[in-house]
Amino acid sequence: MPEKGDFVFAPPDRPSVAIRGESARYPVRRIFCVGRNYAAHAREMGKDLDREPPFYFTKQADGIVASGATVPYPPMTGNYHYEMELVVALGAAFRVTEEAALECVYGYACGLDMTRRDLQQQAKEAGRPWDTSKAFDQSAIIGDITRVADCGHLSEGAITLEVNGELKQSGDLSEMIWDVPETIANLSQFYHLKPGDLIYTGTPAGVGPLKPGDTLTGRIEGLGDIALAIGPPE
Ligand code: MN
Repeated sequence: MPEKGDFVFAPPDRPSVAIRGESARYPVRRIFCVGRNYAAHAREMGKDLDREPPFYFTKQADGIVASGATVPYPPMTGNYHYEMELVVALGAAFRVTEEAALECVYGYACGLDMTRRDLQQQAKEAGRPWDTSKAFDQSAIIGDITRVADCGHLSEGAITLEVNGELKQSGDLSEMIWDVPETIANLSQFYHLKPGDLIYTGTPAGVGPLKPGDTLTGRIEGLGDIALAIGPPE
């Protein structure tokens, strides 16, 4: 293995997430996100789905930002959106069945899949990739991970988001089109999932735009809160 001094510049620190009740941190390897996983959100995005197979996009691991941060309003967008989501923190999984999938879960967290909605719309219309709309700097907000041993598996429970104290998103985890075991089983057909891989599992209806000065508070029953503030553009 090369040492730090073997590189032309210091390699970046490994992105990681705090774990409740644990001094050690969860190192982030990859970030997968599920598109349109709540029917009401799919409809507000102009799609009416009847269990079309799930589809995925990714974010870079160094897009991770801990709950409680202030992030600058990002460049190259005039329509910066929040998406409140359940995040699954994984162990190893490859070609697992739905029955075995939950054994691959390390824990759960609240997440915000930040989105440049205008760039996403342009990409959709042009049939182009979503990278600049989804995988940008500081676009993957995450709360502390709660270990499965402490919270059990989450198949139902309220998921909400308030912006400046006003309720914007209100759904239930049971409304997911593809639930957690189905999603892990499906994603594990495509990838050797490894410890450190996260899945953002999609957002309920009610997404919307943000502006500098806004404060966000998300909640998932059984997991606690996530907080974010939007700062001025850099
Ligand atoms: Mn999303």
